[in-house]
Amino acid sequence: MKKRLLTGLQPSGTLTLGNFCGGINQVYNYQEQYDTFLFIPDLHSITVTQDPEELHKKIKEVVGLYLACGIDAQKTHIYIQSENLYHANLSWILECHAYFGELSRMHQFKEKSKNKENFTCGLYTYPILMASDILLYDAQVVPTGIDQKQHVELARNIAERFNNRYHGNYFVIPEPLIPNVGAKIRDLQNPEKKMSKSTSNPKSSIFLLDEEKAIRKKIMGAVTDNDASIKFDEENKPGVSNLLTIYSVLKNISIDETVRQFSGAGYGDLKKEVANVTIEKIMSIQEKYHEIMSSNVIDDILDEGRDYTVKLASEKYETIRKAVGLGR
Ligand code: ATP
Ligand code: MG
Repeated sequence: MKKRLLTGLQPSGTLTLGNFCGGINQVYNYQEQYDTFLFIPDLHSITVTQDPEELHKKIKEVVGLYLACGIDAQKTHIYIQSENLYHANLSWILECHAYFGELSRMHQFKEKSKNKENFTCGLYTYPILMASDILLYDAQVVPTGIDQKQHVELARNIAERFNNRYHGNYFVIPEPLIPNVGAKIRDLQNPEKKMSKSTSNPKSSIFLLDEEKAIRKKIMGAVTDNDASIKFDEENKPGVSNLLTIYSVLKNISIDETVRQFSGAGYGDLKKEVANVTIEKIMSIQEKYHEIMSSNVIDDILDEGRDYTVKLASEKYETIRKAVGLGR
């Protein structure tokens, strides 16, 4: 039997080039090798305020983009998290097996709650819901960018703790699958930070539904440095290293090869070429996206994914409920 792979991308905005490199492109590369579960974590996206109409629209947009990026719906289970009640139910049980201290150490929580007077309890506990998403299906591998590595480690810790406490192999211990190149695509305006779809500055992120002109403008305006030499050095030259990384992922070549190709070139040349490959990739995704959105395939795919995963999740949930001593 194939091993199970699971990941999801929040409908908290339009997917970015970062989401492509750390998320979907990995699923695309592994979908033949694994039994693949790719869901829409809509419950996660309400950890911060969302406009209901906009959120509703984004859910199908994300599915359309999954398919446009080459995810094969015949081979992949694609489903919406909130349509399967077991995710939130198991999450509660896991919440009672996770510690306040360990959640307080989560970088994403610190980052998203920084300088905010008010943030939701959901923002604090969502890594447990993520553990539930993974553990419900005995997923062995979880492709993610570097930002989510710590959350997969939390899922591992909760699973191990649960198995020890109830003396059984109730949960499979998942592994994060982090790409060698592209695990942290950086914010174009502030390359210390990662690119995010929920950014407040649209110049910071390349969105998969951006127009050609906007993509070129954002890349040409990306923050670099005054050193004028093309080198891969993420610590001292994060902006230039980010451009090299994007080129390398989209061309499917190594960083070394990319650096060789640009030896002696100026930043303007590098940016122009990065813009060209990005536009080529994104325009081809958009062409497929519009085709998919004007067909009626999405609802059937989501119905099928929901029915398949609800059955699996209900079996797992029953086992866990009994182990804990709940119910009759
Ligand atoms: P949000 O700002 O709403 O949190 P996001 O851009 O961080 O959105 P998520 O839905 O949280 O996206 O994450 C989806 C997937 O994309 C995860 O696997 C995550 O690790 C990956 N990812 C997110 N940002 C990047 C990035 N800048 N580089 C590489 N991978 C990323
Ligand atoms: Mg995120």
